[in-house]
Amino acid sequence: MGENLSKTVAQGRAFMNIIGGEQVEAKSGARMDVVAPSDGLAFGSIPASNEADVDAAVRSARHAYEQGEWGKMAAVDRGRILLRLSMLITENADELAALESRDTGKPIKQGIADIVGCARYFEFYGGAADKIHGDTIPIAGDFLALTLREPHGVVAGIIPWNYPAQILGRVAGAGLAMGNSLVLKPAEDACLSVIRIAELALDAGLPAGAFNVVCGTGKDAGAALSAHPDVDFVTFTGSPLTGTAIQQAAAINNRGVTMELGGKSPQIIFADADLDAALPLVVNAIIQNGGQTCSAGSRVLIEASIYDEFTKRLAEKFSKLVAGPHDADLDLGPLISKKQHALVQGFIDEATQSGTELLAQGTIAGNAPEGGYYCAPVLFGNVEANSSIAQKEVFGPVLAAFSFKDEDEAVMLANNTDFGLVAAIWTRDGARQMRMAKRVRAGQVFVNTYGAGGGIELPFGGFKKSGHGREKGFDGLFHMSATKTVVFKHN
Ligand code: NAP
Ligand code: MG
Repeated sequence: MGENLSKTVAQGRAFMNIIGGEQVEAKSGARMDVVAPSDGLAFGSIPASNEADVDAAVRSARHAYEQGEWGKMAAVDRGRILLRLSMLITENADELAALESRDTGKPIKQGIADIVGCARYFEFYGGAADKIHGDTIPIAGDFLALTLREPHGVVAGIIPWNYPAQILGRVAGAGLAMGNSLVLKPAEDACLSVIRIAELALDAGLPAGAFNVVCGTGKDAGAALSAHPDVDFVTFTGSPLTGTAIQQAAAINNRGVTMELGGKSPQIIFADADLDAALPLVVNAIIQNGGQTCSAGSRVLIEASIYDEFTKRLAEKFSKLVAGPHDADLDLGPLISKKQHALVQGFIDEATQSGTELLAQGTIAGNAPEGGYYCAPVLFGNVEANSSIAQKEVFGPVLAAFSFKDEDEAVMLANNTDFGLVAAIWTRDGARQMRMAKRVRAGQVFVNTYGAGGGIELPFGGFKKSGHGREKGFDGLFHMSATKTVVFKHN
């Protein structure tokens, strides 16, 4: 990618909502700045939408579903549109990755990986669209019973700022493949790739109204969308607190929800593990996207006999990590916002002031602009099991190390948080791999690897406060649809 593109992409552009296949301004005319986390400067703007805009988007989605071409379209044709969208995303990958990087601060290599992932979602779900079918059910008597898998209807998606393009891919890929129409509310801090991909969806032939995007704050646009009486289903990715608010809003209309609410995922290292293989993956699992990943491996649990050796090797790696501007493409970029920077710094300060052992800290690149939201990655050792950095989702580049004496203690520590999203187990002992995979409470368990929720094909979601429902893979299609049972009487 030309270095210029990531510096200049979308400069001065006034982005619009996408409603009913048109680019539209918020009805109030209000706008919000788009800020680049790398320098803290505004470079574009988005509509500051409210209830009236949300209502227009829901109406347009309803119309596309009930009266428009979209609701009547054959599954194979829906699939072909998604495959064309996948190709368009790939053709425009440089621009989209530059946009995503500038908007969120993520290093360009991560921006590219996210756009490749987004295209892959539409490829996967485009291919799957006509391969979902119901069952026939043997029941006694002169009956034929069968099930149909039907779309919910109008689906609201409220998504966060950490992986906008990828999360759009999993929500819109599965949602549209099943024949739902969508209203997506991206986070105010990261709307741009979402708007661009919705524009490309129209170019790919998606009928107007099938995929609407409304930008605005959670308070104004998000709350109105989750409470809208004509929304049939709500899917949310973000914080547990906001997840509760959205479920309460959806409950007013008794609508179904999928909740993907983050984690405090453990990486468990036994003494017999291939430590050379584990080391870079353990580091990457917390550094990827600056630790702003729901499935970040934010706790490392190390068997006592190798604790000193392994933390020493981790510390060497951490001290060499460098945070810098997105276009410098270093180990990590800035955090998303001033607010998020203050939150993460608060966790680091609390841990330091309470005497937690700081094993190593990376650096911030000398040329990083002053106004950017940079945070040098930190490794803490012998972390107290009930402290904030052991229990709370920091959402920054902070890794907490613990030691355990045996398998039982490893399981106890691994499961000792409110979350249950992802876990990694590093050991060469096959029986232990299987025991641990069963005993650790997490929606995804990786053995001798770490995927950070990765794999478009792999069902993803949590236990406990990490949420409920599943996205990705075929599970994502099932959650974007409902079973209808039909019984015929014959003689
Ligand atoms: P958040 O509040 O959960 O935001 C996620 C999405 O929900 C955004 O689109 C947000 O809109 C929207 N939203 C906020 N309040 C809402 C409401 N009352 N009704 C409907 N929608 C609403 O997350 P955040 O405040 O940006 O980040 C705080 C913490 O959440 C982070 O520190 C991290 O721990 C966690 N988080 C987790 C994930 C994840 O992938 N699991 C992602 C992001 C954040 P606006 O942002 O436009 O207001
Ligand atoms: Mg931004």
